[in-house]
Amino acid sequence: MRLSRYFLPVLKETPSEAQVVSHRYMLRAGMIKQSAAGIYTWLPLGYRVLKKIEGIVHEEQMRAGHIPMLMPTIQSADLWRESGRYDAYGEEMLRIRDRHDRDMLFTPTAEELITDVFRANVSSYKDLPLTMYQIQWKFRDEIRPRFGVMRGREFYMKDGYNFDLSKEAALHAYNRHLVTYLRTYERMGLQAIPMRADGGPIGGDYTHEFLVLADTGESEVFYDSEITDLKFGDREINYDDVAECQAVLEEFTSRYARTDETHEETLFNEVPEDRRRVARGIEVGQIFYFGTKYSEALGATVQTAEGDSVPVHMGSHGIGVSRLLGAIIEASHDDKGIIWPEGVTPFHCGIVNLKQGDDEADAACEQLYAALTGIGLEPLYDDRKERAGGKFATMDLIGLPWRITVGPRGLKNGVVELTSRRSGESEEMSPEEAVKKIA
Ligand code: ATP
Ligand code: MG
Ligand code: MG
Ligand code: MG
Repeated sequence: MRLSRYFLPVLKETPSEAQVVSHRYMLRAGMIKQSAAGIYTWLPLGYRVLKKIEGIVHEEQMRAGHIPMLMPTIQSADLWRESGRYDAYGEEMLRIRDRHDRDMLFTPTAEELITDVFRANVSSYKDLPLTMYQIQWKFRDEIRPRFGVMRGREFYMKDGYNFDLSKEAALHAYNRHLVTYLRTYERMGLQAIPMRADGGPIGGDYTHEFLVLADTGESEVFYDSEITDLKFGDREINYDDVAECQAVLEEFTSRYARTDETHEETLFNEVPEDRRRVARGIEVGQIFYFGTKYSEALGATVQTAEGDSVPVHMGSHGIGVSRLLGAIIEASHDDKGIIWPEGVTPFHCGIVNLKQGDDEADAACEQLYAALTGIGLEPLYDDRKERAGGKFATMDLIGLPWRITVGPRGLKNGVVELTSRRSGESEEMSPEEAVKKIA
């Protein structure tokens, strides 16, 4: 992409309405524009990152055999009346009436709709296990939308649903989701700690929230510091192997890690004092086993091998795709701007031409652009007639991992400058070497 032909409305001033750094930088870097309270337009740069994050979520879900699909955002109230949630959900649900006076709503989550799909099409144990998911816009009429996309009213969420014959099988699906989530967040350069969450009115131990540690997080968290040493890494896993997935769950959840909702002081005090941590965290996902709550309410049953009719065991599993942009920036920035982890960066590197219009500099930049594009990388070439200082400030703000600076002086010696956004270190080298280093 050439910056002269792109749409990157960078703001010089710090927007006064933004209370947290991720919101400030997303506005300043021209990633989003508020359209109404908690509702945003995704400008080209923000949209690119959103799609990168969505891509990782898809890859990791499909790797585990989960099947992508898409459900409507506007749903009829009928199904929600059947489950009892139309009345129970409260003010967070945006209710709409169509021209025929039918009650509709904008989906805040989709347990009812997916269960309806299931009951209409599946009747035998032979079709289980089954896990389907979507990445779709949700709406919750949050009482206090804030922090930009972190607590929006309209937000992008991955929601997955598993259908299994027994509790045991559904708990395997639960564990499998935990593994996919660990991989997903790590690929985004994040450490998201699974913490025991509140089962709410359903109760039970089978729900974990994933929290990214950040001072601006809305949850207070209590954990054993040993947990931050755990990495899933690039280990191979067989998602069909019950024991293997169970072992990962145990490894990542055996130490104390809870939010304020489930915190128990006496248990926490059993953690050696020097390892006790109290901090703040951002909830970026949650997994849940809820048994037959919806299958019983909606009559989603299957025939067993013995011919009995039983309600299916279900769970649901969410990732806050749009909230993740905020969480990643909260975890990775400095006073100049965003520092994107490689996995989600909107462009792989920036090219800064110090003297636009200089034949040699222009030609060298074009060659670099072609070389990077040729090996499948996405460069952002700042080809505007601007001062170098302004170009550097923009690159620092939008946070691409690498910057190649090209100017007549260096070219005389056959070199360009390669700068790492994260370390700030610069090195002179030939253009070919710079491309190799980025690849
Ligand atoms: P919170 O406690 O922050 O209100 P939640 O527990 O109500 O979130 P879930 O129903 O668990 O949310 O939804 C799954 C994920 O969707 C959450 O873990 C979070 O990352 C994301 N999410 C929920 N509400 C919002 C929102 N208003 N804006 C952006 N992302 C959200
Ligand atoms: Mg909520
Ligand atoms: Mg929550
Ligand atoms: Mg939650």
